[in-house]
Amino acid sequence: MKMAAEQVEAMNMVKAFRVSDLQTLLASMGRSKSGLKQDLVMRALKMVQSECSPELLKSVRQLYETRFPKSAGWLAARRPEAVPVNYSSSMGSAARSLTQSSQGASDYLNGGSLPKQAVAPLAEVKLVSLPFYHTLETLLPPTELIAQNNEKLQDSQCIFELTQSQVDQIRNSTEHRPGIKSVQVVLRIVYTDSIGVQEDQYPPNIAVRVNQSFCHVPGYYPSNKPGVEPRRPCRPINITPWLHLSTTTNRVTITWGNFGKRYSVAIYLVRVFTSAELFNQLKHGSVESAERCRERIQDKLRFDPESEIATTGLRVSLICPLVKMRLGVPCRVLTCAHLQCFDAVFFLQMNEKKPTWTCPVCDKPAPFELLTIDGLLSEILKQTEEEVEEIEYLTDGSWRPIGDERDKDKDRERSNTPVYPLVDICASEVNGHSPAHSSTSQSAKSGSGSAAAPAASGVVVDLTLDDSSDEENANGGGGGGADTTDTDDSQGSPSPKRGRYNYDKDLVTAY
Ligand code: ZN
Repeated sequence: MKMAAEQVEAMNMVKAFRVSDLQTLLASMGRSKSGLKQDLVMRALKMVQSECSPELLKSVRQLYETRFPKSAGWLAARRPEAVPVNYSSSMGSAARSLTQSSQGASDYLNGGSLPKQAVAPLAEVKLVSLPFYHTLETLLPPTELIAQNNEKLQDSQCIFELTQSQVDQIRNSTEHRPGIKSVQVVLRIVYTDSIGVQEDQYPPNIAVRVNQSFCHVPGYYPSNKPGVEPRRPCRPINITPWLHLSTTTNRVTITWGNFGKRYSVAIYLVRVFTSAELFNQLKHGSVESAERCRERIQDKLRFDPESEIATTGLRVSLICPLVKMRLGVPCRVLTCAHLQCFDAVFFLQMNEKKPTWTCPVCDKPAPFELLTIDGLLSEILKQTEEEVEEIEYLTDGSWRPIGDERDKDKDRERSNTPVYPLVDICASEVNGHSPAHSSTSQSAKSGSGSAAAPAASGVVVDLTLDDSSDEENANGGGGGGADTTDTDDSQGSPSPKRGRYNYDKDLVTAY
């Protein structure tokens, strides 16, 4: 027999009722209100199943809303401790019923075996915050999916209603993409684990029905192997297009594979950002001033006590390691030690498509909150020609563009490469493209306790990285730092791929 959605919903509500609710309901419909709780539940369920009048449905709903004012169907299952003691003996089955599928409800009604395991203890699951999703309201706090039987495929259901204000927020929001609102209701699924913050992780065999329609689960490709979880990163599931955008009840049914792992689900009202919007936030809220950048570079260029190599210059590529194109907006992670930047726009776009939030230079975590735009390199990019792919910060506080690697030493000797004093960069911003040549830039700075060798014969440590896998090859790159020392016979040695000293771990970790 096929039941109407309202019937299924009413039955789920009835199963959450207390004895007093059941008695009120049965009495109001002219039925006997005597008997044990189990009898009352059966009687009420049969009544809902057989004579589903609008009047009956209304009574059920009113009683339910009095009992569970927050209107999130799973709340009762989630907070067993909130239920008075005299109810606890039967609470288990009633609370579990809330997460039962309609099929399970029919089995229950037809005398099938009652679910036997207890409600899982309340776990304070914390979900990782996602830069592209700003939570406006919690519609369902993290709630564990409870298996109803030994079947591998489980259905868990919850109901919730939107308030008029939430409906308005969705309706009045701008379009995130054509046809898709920027204020959304999203479903998130994570492991049930109270330790740390949880990343989104779909269970195997996931399917989500919202008001009887299957909704799109992003990035999920069903596997033939049983129990295989979808690969991360899993995303919040936008269920908005299938919701009733009114104050009527919405029903969400999650089909999930029960292969021994525990999952919790939560529903939020969120504002979704585009990478362009995040970029705007970054641009307006997180730019490291050129002055601050200079200080940091100067600190780095003073002697590194951990290293055998006296650093006299730090080379930075102007090419984004992500897209191998010239940096547009140079960006770094505040906690990263390297000066090498990546392109903020590309980085955000990449994370919008596939959120990994990992530094493309050193592979360390790169959360959005720690991203910063490099104000100094931004200026340098404006002041250098398109062909310049690399620059070098020198100990005396200046920087210079580096042309073709093979010409580097000659360039230096001839002093025909303009050297830009760091201190003039701010001023030059006003004057455009021609910063003053610094007459002192070629002499190594004395004082500051710097034991660095003179710039002209020092070792240049290159912090650029073509590929993160190069890190392992740093020692095999033809003698490491030796390749980059100044020698006059550079034209005779076609040093393999620039002979790069790719990544000085010691130097990097020292800062
Ligand atoms: Zn890094």
